[in-house]
Amino acid sequence: MSVENIIIIGSGPAGLTAAVYSARANLKPLMIEGEMPGGLLTTTTEVENYPGFAKGIMGPELMLEMRKQAERFGTRFITQNVSKVDLTKKPFKVYVGEKEHQAHVVIVSTGASSKMLGIPSEKSYWAKGVSTCATCDGAFFKDVPVCVIGGGDSAMEEATFLTRFASKVYIIHRRDSFRASKIMVDRALKNPKIEVVWNSLVEEVLGDGKLANAVRVKNSQDGSTKEIPVEGVFVAIGHQPNTDLFKGALDMDESGYLVTKGQSSATNIEGVFACGDVQDHVYRQAITAAGSGCKAAIDAERWLEAQGH
Ligand code: NAP
Repeated sequence: MSVENIIIIGSGPAGLTAAVYSARANLKPLMIEGEMPGGLLTTTTEVENYPGFAKGIMGPELMLEMRKQAERFGTRFITQNVSKVDLTKKPFKVYVGEKEHQAHVVIVSTGASSKMLGIPSEKSYWAKGVSTCATCDGAFFKDVPVCVIGGGDSAMEEATFLTRFASKVYIIHRRDSFRASKIMVDRALKNPKIEVVWNSLVEEVLGDGKLANAVRVKNSQDGSTKEIPVEGVFVAIGHQPNTDLFKGALDMDESGYLVTKGQSSATNIEGVFACGDVQDHVYRQAITAAGSGCKAAIDAERWLEAQGH
């Protein structure tokens, strides 16, 4: 069996940038892009903050352009999910179904998934009012009321950020106290545009079929329900890194994010590199993911050279 130089697992901005760089370095990377290629950006609408697109670009189109760019320099793609990996010995083994692939280097760019409430209407109004990213979508909600669901630092940060645009920001939280740090809570609560709806669960996102225009919340103390008119619904109840494949093999923090060494993309296993949201719960932007994908490709290239491959 021939051994690949580099297998890249995951095809968001991090993985595709790693592919562009390693393909241009003539390393002929093999990307296992998953059954739903392109990562989270393919689920968004307009991306206005990716440098180089002054008029904005649709998320799916941006990802298609990145894929074409990676392909142009010789990246090969498998449009399936990885079923398991064996990183205990070199060359590393990456399985797609039962089929085994071997590689000197593995770059992990499997991303993170936003946790969702699990109600059908959050799906039907996805990108029609429902979002999981205030930085990405906040500017679409100028002078209209919005809500943020959650009680952690993300919810506080998103709510505070959204006050720049929205006329009013409700924070809807299921308990009577926040999990978020005091400084973030204080900042949010002193903002006159923010109002907290305590002890409340969002039961349904309501709308006219095209766009969301309200949420129905249920009070967990007395069982009462009420509708809150909002045009934007920001779900901020945490993220889940996609790291199940690497449990027991790669070092992770307490939330399951891969740990990389210092400013590099190196993991605890030599020859395995990680980039993008799978190792970053702080910035989580397409551009920061792309930057870390570039770093992973350069780290991989140098490592391969040092090994004499
Ligand atoms: P988090 O700390 O896990 O908070 C999630 C929040 O969502 C909690 O308040 C939780 O309620 C609520 N929640 C979870 N599942 C829910 C459900 N099904 N329905 C309704 N509410 C639900 O997540 P996070 O806020 O994304 O923060 C993740 C990590 O990143 C934390 O370590 C945080 O400190 C860090 N972070 C830091 C910054 C910063 O410092 N600038 C910014 C963002 C995030 P309960 O409280 O009842 O469990």
